[in-house]
Amino acid sequence: MDVLTLGNDLLRQKAVLVENLKDNLSQWQETAENMFAALKVQNGVGLAGPQVGLMRRIFVVTVDGDEPRVFINPSIIETSQETTKYEEGCLSIPGNWADVVRPRTVKVQAWNEKGRSFTLEAGGILARVILHEYDHLDGVLFIDRLPELKRNKILEKIAKKAKA
Ligand code: ZN
Repeated sequence: MDVLTLGNDLLRQKAVLVENLKDNLSQWQETAENMFAALKVQNGVGLAGPQVGLMRRIFVVTVDGDEPRVFINPSIIETSQETTKYEEGCLSIPGNWADVVRPRTVKVQAWNEKGRSFTLEAGGILARVILHEYDHLDGVLFIDRLPELKRNKILEKIAKKAKA
């Protein structure tokens, strides 16, 4: 699986629901395995379908001290009013990091690769990665959540690099 980078239109499109999950479990298990493998190669903590050109609502997350997790057709049920700022990067925007403000905690419901529904309340890095990956399913990137000046700086840097 190749990870698409900024400029690819698929990163800006909304992914659609996974249908008939329970009838296609082996296919989705394989997809999740391939996504974890791609994550490992890139040394990342989260990867969403659209980042590998798969326009379905799935993402995988693997953060230190937690089990690898698969989220299929996730819904954000609740986010805390309290926010935190933390430096984020993205495999689709390589070499760029910036402080992003997000809710401190999140409650999410999804299905895993075994077809089981689960609800998870997360905080810390796990909450941040879940919210970052969820954004990808709606075509939203972390640079969209930056103040305009900061976002433009990153875009200029990428444009310069592309020219060089
Ligand atoms: Zn990302």
